[in-house]
Amino acid sequence: MKTDLEKLLGIEVKMANDANCFAMAEASLGVVPDHIKNPEVVFGVILGTAVGGGLVVNGQVVNGLHGIAGEWGHNRLVEDGLPCYCGHQGCVETILSGPATEKYYESISGQKKSMREINQLFINGESFAVQTMDRYLNYFGKAVAVLINIIDPEAIVLGGGLGNLDVIYQRGPAEVLKHLFNKELNTLFLRPKLGDSAGVIGAALL
Ligand SMILES: [Zn+2]
Repeated sequence: MKTDLEKLLGIEVKMANDANCFAMAEASLGVVPDHIKNPEVVFGVILGTAVGGGLVVNGQVVNGLHGIAGEWGHNRLVEDGLPCYCGHQGCVETILSGPATEKYYESISGQKKSMREINQLFINGESFAVQTMDRYLNYFGKAVAVLINIIDPEAIVLGGGLGNLDVIYQRGPAEVLKHLFNKELNTLFLRPKLGDSAGVIGAALL
């Protein structure tokens, strides 16, 4: 596609996936510079319909040999877990995505609810929603601790629909610390600042 576009347009074309663009934008012009000057490592997490991520090191997106750098959503989190569209089973995405969380809530409560409704029920203390979010945070801790053990970022920006949930910021870091190699966790967990424009801004920064 890159070659075709370049031929057609007669200019160099740069491409990156949306999670990488999101990470790049928030690391350079978004929420990260409000807290840290010139961070070495920033990770942008997408917790939405899918789970993905983008890695920015010294202000540059890291793509990697296969172009999959940052794709922590397809690390295996549960042995013999649910099948994932990628062909594997028990991927982080099969547990931490919005649809997976809605499916889990339905499996224990027998009721179909949106992520927004589940979050409201959780705030109200409804027991199935509490169970759903306790499970969510437990797995969030395990999955993000793996990430931090490997890349040790100064900041993680949490995008996607579930990145809006207060409980992730309130309880997420403590859940991560339970599984972390280090005894303290100083990584900042930040809410994105650029909204839906982050992807486009990041693409312009490539
Ligand atoms: Zn997968």
